[in-house]
Amino acid sequence: MNVQDIIVPQADLGAAYRAQKDAIDAAVARVLASGWYILGQEGAAFEREYGAWLSAGGAPAMTAVGCANGTDAIALILRGLGIGPGCTVATVSHTAVATVAAIEMVGATPLLIDIDPRTFCLDAAELAEVLRSPPPGLPPVRAVIPVHIYGHACDMDAILAIGRAAGIAVVEDVAQAHGGRLDGRMLGTLGDAAAFSLYPTKNLGALGDAGVTATPDAALAARMAAIRQYGWHRRYISDEVGVNSRLDEMQAAILRVRLPLLDAGNARRRAVAAAYDAALAEGPFAAPYRAPGVEHVFHQYVLRVPDREGVMERLRVQGVATAIHYPVPVHEQAAYKGRVAMGPAGCAETARAAGEVMSLPVFPEITDAQVERVCAALRAL
Ligand SMILES: *Cc1c(COP(=O)(O)O)cnc(C)c1O
Repeated sequence: MNVQDIIVPQADLGAAYRAQKDAIDAAVARVLASGWYILGQEGAAFEREYGAWLSAGGAPAMTAVGCANGTDAIALILRGLGIGPGCTVATVSHTAVATVAAIEMVGATPLLIDIDPRTFCLDAAELAEVLRSPPPGLPPVRAVIPVHIYGHACDMDAILAIGRAAGIAVVEDVAQAHGGRLDGRMLGTLGDAAAFSLYPTKNLGALGDAGVTATPDAALAARMAAIRQYGWHRRYISDEVGVNSRLDEMQAAILRVRLPLLDAGNARRRAVAAAYDAALAEGPFAAPYRAPGVEHVFHQYVLRVPDREGVMERLRVQGVATAIHYPVPVHEQAAYKGRVAMGPAGCAETARAAGEVMSLPVFPEITDAQVERVCAALRAL
């Protein structure tokens, strides 16, 4: 094929399905024939396998609890911890709006902290500052949700130390960082609990909506498992108020096909990132920063590009699709603007990032020819 004819989408979910078609079709057929479609053997097996995968390599034994999506995973953890009305939860504005939506779903008050401009992750120094002198008029801060954005770990040692000293819960949002590590430790095993989205585009994705929580605290896991189904600790008996946020068997069976492929998929993402790093080395744009000890999983490969529209157009004519994660920070969205609390930095770095970030194509099934096409386009910038 002529190189000009190579088109590189920013993501390609169909390619992932085609690569795994036989195994996925068999898993779906198995569920269809089973006569059991929600919260059954597949879901239980996925939870066991996910917990074991997280715990491999020395982490505490993690209990995973499946649910309907990543937003619900965050909300389930907050409910399980007893966090709701009368509580503030700190997180970032530079995230999928879902993180903040989940805080408000449980009736808690979000407090948005700015990011470290190098990692795009929560600024631990500002977190310490707001815990020392909380903004007036807010309920007490009960938890913080660091978001491992793009697949890069937050500064967890600092955040955990600050959280422990303040007596607040640390809930990791790992929706973009399945398999990422910090100093060899698996993300999602470091805090009190972790929420994972399994939306189709994520590093571990279902073929529909799905999510999973994980925690080393078995009692918290049992409580979340009850809350996700009407608060039932026994069938038809609601001992506490719950919701409906179940994991269906079809998605669980598909996820069981994909979990063993996740580490190889992340390795492929890192190899693609290394190729882009090399192509960018001579040019005007810096490759994504990796903090010491961080094993990035490149959910997105993100550059800062001041003349973003022009660069996106130049890449587009070279057949390279790009995306913006995210063009409008949560605190500037109409639904939140003017009413959501911010820390003393006023999310200034977040606003600057939103105007500059651009995501290149990165997904495990990207071909070598597609990678080379992107690299050639980058070298020509
Ligand atoms: C995708 C995502 C979520 C929400 O997940 P859903 O499955 O779409 O509800 C939450 N946080 C972050 C950082 C995400 O990227």
